[in-house]
Amino acid sequence: MQIMLCAICNISSGNCSEDCKYCTQSRFVKTDIIKYKQKDIEQIVLEAKMAKKNHALGFCLVSAGLGLDDTKLEYICKAAHAVKKAEPELMLIACNGLASLDQCKELVKAGVFSYNHNLETSKEFYPQICSTHSWQSRFETNLNAKEAGLMLCCGGIYGLGESEDDRISFRKSLKELEPFSSPINFFIHNENFSIKPKKLSTDEALNIIKQSKKDLPNTHIMIAGGREAVLKERQYEVFEYGASAVVIGDYLTTKGEEACKDIQELEKRGFSFVTQCH
Ligand code: SF4
Repeated sequence: MQIMLCAICNISSGNCSEDCKYCTQSRFVKTDIIKYKQKDIEQIVLEAKMAKKNHALGFCLVSAGLGLDDTKLEYICKAAHAVKKAEPELMLIACNGLASLDQCKELVKAGVFSYNHNLETSKEFYPQICSTHSWQSRFETNLNAKEAGLMLCCGGIYGLGESEDDRISFRKSLKELEPFSSPINFFIHNENFSIKPKKLSTDEALNIIKQSKKDLPNTHIMIAGGREAVLKERQYEVFEYGASAVVIGDYLTTKGEEACKDIQELEKRGFSFVTQCH
């Protein structure tokens, strides 16, 4: 079986004005994460080269914050051009919060292939995990990205205390957007978070993957944050439950499985890696 690997590059970290209760980059959460406004473009290119070496097809430029403004857009386009020049085969994904149609069009011009903006959870549950922006604004950003010609990478996070009905409603909304890929994150508990939901069990997490594939049969289900923490030694079973993509390397503010260990384990199980997305 062929699977798709994606790597994340945190190009602007922390100090986010928003109060998403599951995110260590929010300025409402006390954390000791490294914060910076703009990562050097040279460093981004180095990380892109490393991602390519690790068989990644997707390379995601992620910035903290509510959304794009002119300065940020210009910086991201510059980074996108530099990565494309150094590693033309990488599929560039931008993940920069709320974006207008015109801003998405600029990203397309800079060589970005896909936009990642997660709905995170159901529209009904969303106000309980964020009060500074609306779920609807997230949904609209996805519509803008789609209209601009970007492929959608849209998913969310499970284990925030949402109900089964919320999960059904969340996947129904994802289905409306028909994303190319859908990242599934599992909430990682942190004593500094104000929410203390019940921990997801491994079986529950695997079942979420299975249900996601059932509801989104034409979408790549991508396993992202929380893979190691929640699935532990069963993490490579995700493909039996419908996943066809994983994030390799570190996540935004948490450590991931070492990329080379992941690749070894995946190859040992007979997986090969997608090198083109069409
Ligand atoms: S908008 Fe993004 S970076 Fe900011 S707190 Fe929410 S999830 Fe974190």
